[in-house]
Amino acid sequence: MSVRQITSVNPATEEVLGRFDPHTPDQIEAALARAAGAAAQWRSTPIEVRAEHLHRAAAIMRADRDRLATLITEEMGKPIAEAEAEVEKSAWCCEYYAEHGPAMLARESVETAATRSHIAYDPLGLVLAVMPWNFPLWQVFRFAPPALLAGNGAVLKHASNVPRCALAIAEVWEQAGCPTGLFTTLLVGPDAVPSLIADDRVRALTLTGSTEVGAQVAAMAAAHLKPQVLELGGSDPFIVLADADIPAAAAAAVTARMLNAGQSCISGKRFIVEDAVAEEFTEAFAAGVAALTVGDPFDRDMRIGPLARASIRADVLDQVRRSVSAGARIVTGGTVPEGPGFYFRPAVLDNVTPGMAVAAEETFGPVAAVVRAKDALDAVGIANATEFGLGAALWTSDLDRAELLVPRIDAGAVFVNGIVASDPRLPFGGVKRSGYGRELGVFGIRQFTNVKSVWVG
Ligand code: NAP
Repeated sequence: MSVRQITSVNPATEEVLGRFDPHTPDQIEAALARAAGAAAQWRSTPIEVRAEHLHRAAAIMRADRDRLATLITEEMGKPIAEAEAEVEKSAWCCEYYAEHGPAMLARESVETAATRSHIAYDPLGLVLAVMPWNFPLWQVFRFAPPALLAGNGAVLKHASNVPRCALAIAEVWEQAGCPTGLFTTLLVGPDAVPSLIADDRVRALTLTGSTEVGAQVAAMAAAHLKPQVLELGGSDPFIVLADADIPAAAAAAVTARMLNAGQSCISGKRFIVEDAVAEEFTEAFAAGVAALTVGDPFDRDMRIGPLARASIRADVLDQVRRSVSAGARIVTGGTVPEGPGFYFRPAVLDNVTPGMAVAAEETFGPVAAVVRAKDALDAVGIANATEFGLGAALWTSDLDRAELLVPRIDAGAVFVNGIVASDPRLPFGGVKRSGYGRELGVFGIRQFTNVKSVWVG
């Protein structure tokens, strides 16, 4: 699809905030040449100096938090307090890698028959990042600080509905003193991605987005033998066993599902509850969801802003409609308020069975599916009966039983008695059709390196 203009629309008001002409092939060529030159200079900059740039980027973001948070909320509609937290978390990730990254990439001696031998972590070069809009800063900052600290450059193709966030991110790195173009934002549509992947100067790729797009992009990257990280869709199970603290689990379920108006890959989406506590849990969960305030994301009393695009609201409405026709029951929400903006009242559906749309497909909006299970093993079986494998939550007061169940859950992360969340200190990623490769932690920083064996006779 060829993109005529990239348009930023406020989803709360439907007003156009800005229109941008996509970069032309000549502009893209100039940007890639500059980025490759900057990356060549950067890789020979000592890692301690690179770390100082990350510290500066963090300080810039903290100082500019209000403006950056406003950009996020204006472009994709999350409540302003969540946008502020996103800026803080992005700054934290820079600081985390500035502090711990050099040790993670330090040369490791290995004893062999050689006089000396060691493992070195060299940069790969330019990494293309294709990113989504749901956490317009954090998704990029999950990738960029470790990739840059490792000595790489970055070319960002951000989602088309967050162009002003995309430009602001490149400014942060420029202001932090990185070589001009080391972090480059290209304002382009999906049509530009194939030639970017094919370009020799682009050495690797990271994509966060839907499973469908991930599969297409993975095929292109494979054709050019470019390494890639794919962070794709999810339909995370949130398992509640009969011995769980039900009020605590229900309160956590509200946050797990409804943060960012449910537009998160690691939201709890399928609430798999043992029969014995299903009534109690569903009642408390639905009461918590019904109490959420829906409205202007700049009003600090509002917990749920609009969905980011009209098409997302249409998709979740359709998933709810199809599930209800198949026998699900709406306990609360699921309707569209009057007035402008892509608002949707958060919904809880009970009597969901695994084949229904809200359980079988990813619901990328504020819709919770409650599925009842006979016992713990049945719950784990239902949890695994999905094409996805990103995160999972398990609620139980019996931690010994949790130890036995965790290895049976097919997911990149399992949180016991907690809400699945990304954390710079822990690796993040999925299995099955949720993707492959890891961001964050030590695995994230080594992902875009050449793990080089050096042998000296
Ligand atoms: P998307 O439609 O897959 O788009 C993601 C990115 O890919 C955007 O930059 C998009 O650009 C680009 N893109 C779209 N079609 C493309 C194509 N044919 N070739 C190359 N690039 C293409 O996903 P989204 O709707 O923005 O985000 C929601 C999805 O992301 C959900 O499935 C969610 O679960 C997933 N997600 C996963 C994670 C994770 O860490 N696993 C985190 C967040 C979100 P345009 O905007 O210009 O179309």
